Amino acid sequence: MATTAYSQHYAREIDVEQLAWLLSGRQPIAAEQVPEIDSKWSEWIRSDVRCSSCGSTGALVVRSARARTTQKLIRQSHFRFVGQDGNDAHHPFCEFYGEDDGVLTQPDGLVNLGSEKSAETRLIRELVCKGIEQKLFDQSTIRAMRQWFFELKTSSRVRVTVTPEQIEWTRCLRRHSHYQRWTFHPAQAEMPGFDWAAAAKYQFTEEHLALFELLRETPVEPPHWRRAQELATKHKDQEVFDVSALRPHYDAALTLCGFVARNAGIKFSPINPDSYRWKGPPIPLLALCALALFVSRWDMNTAIATFAKLLTAPTPADLSLGNVIGLNPFHEYTPWRLVQLSTDIAARGFGGHDYPGQLATIEAKLREQYRLWKLQNP
Ligand SMILES: [Zn+2]
Repeated sequence: MATTAYSQHYAREIDVEQLAWLLSGRQPIAAEQVPEIDSKWSEWIRSDVRCSSCGSTGALVVRSARARTTQKLIRQSHFRFVGQDGNDAHHPFCEFYGEDDGVLTQPDGLVNLGSEKSAETRLIRELVCKGIEQKLFDQSTIRAMRQWFFELKTSSRVRVTVTPEQIEWTRCLRRHSHYQRWTFHPAQAEMPGFDWAAAAKYQFTEEHLALFELLRETPVEPPHWRRAQELATKHKDQEVFDVSALRPHYDAALTLCGFVARNAGIKFSPINPDSYRWKGPPIPLLALCALALFVSRWDMNTAIATFAKLLTAPTPADLSLGNVIGLNPFHEYTPWRLVQLSTDIAARGFGGHDYPGQLATIEAKLREQYRLWKLQNP
């Protein structure tokens, strides 16, 4: 779902709300209702507004929608790209291809969409506007970054072979607590309150020790894993972009996110920056950090200096200058990485996805060891 797109006429990245203000010729005023977009603009929008990622035309404006009874936001306003034949107009490798169903989903699970413009989204938009006013970057830089990432993503491809069951197996391994180690001996079970379930878990750790290293710093949040299973099912046997090409850039952006969140003097999100690696960073912040790194040729300290200038610049005069919210170059990075990780783990052996069943089997084995030992050591 493309929440922002590129207007050739205005030469900038805009969201539906900004487009409505621009076409109405009025200045955005806080708390004022966003103007409707007159249908006379439809053809103009179809040829002017382009997908920020793959550059396709055919944009239709889809307004946000709320549930009639609860007033809860069920659809975020966005652009849908439709070809002359009525089908999806995006390039098949475009991140928005096949995603234009308009349903309010947030696979990254991190941006609070409860309010259409959450506080963190507004904050980042203001910083982007500052950056453009301060000439730290401009719309062409944002376009260039977009293009650079699109080419990086499409340059290497892999075939999806992993099954949802194998992804579930990887998730069970990830959730298994493996830091404490303990070696079972039947004599231990002479203890009156011996914890057989704990012994089975320790034994599981010993049997899969080599795999836990691969899973270090992997997210634990269930939405990422569910999304990985959906992607594996949807793209089974298809060629997709190779997520590992993005990894060094994602890791750098994540590191910058953590540094910025700890040192900016502003609260970007309720999530503790130390847990961004596991829970995921706020997506608008991640997108802006990627931009700061891109204009700094991926040098961390240059990017930090750029970010410091953004934070200390005066309040921007024009809040419609820029938007990077739709410019997150790491769209679905995490679930795709889980797909790839699960493929690697499955290649080393698939233990089945019934984790409680496996623990029960191990426990039965240990109890049998104890029984045999007891026969010899009455
Ligand atoms: Zn596209």
